[in-house]
Amino acid sequence: MTILTDTFRKARKSWNCHECRRRIQPGETYHLQTVADSGTIASYRTCGQCQEMRLVVSDDFEFHGEEFLLDETIRDWAETRGASAMRIYAWWRRQWRDRCGVPLPLDRLRTLLPDEALALAA
Ligand SMILES: [Zn+2]
Repeated sequence: MTILTDTFRKARKSWNCHECRRRIQPGETYHLQTVADSGTIASYRTCGQCQEMRLVVSDDFEFHGEEFLLDETIRDWAETRGASAMRIYAWWRRQWRDRCGVPLPLDRLRTLLPDEALALAA
């Protein structure tokens, strides 16, 4: 596998996050990775919240950047981190929306992360 593009972009149209499946809205910053593998080229767009979680869980679970986030990966991370992390897991399950459907801004997610996770993501 060869990584052709590994960058952040500002969305000009809406895209599906390949991690949480929510719609990335125009104006949001997302992570774009384009890879060539076995004669095919694929693009993966990750919303800012999921990209943050990829960084946060990577240290504990030997999660590699080219892999997808799995529900059990975030759940296992949350179960070892306590109540605030379990609330983040609930946000993930709702595609980063509250029970009324209001999106969780990325900077708010960062305030909810346990301190040691923030240090890892910095
Ligand atoms: Zn996402």
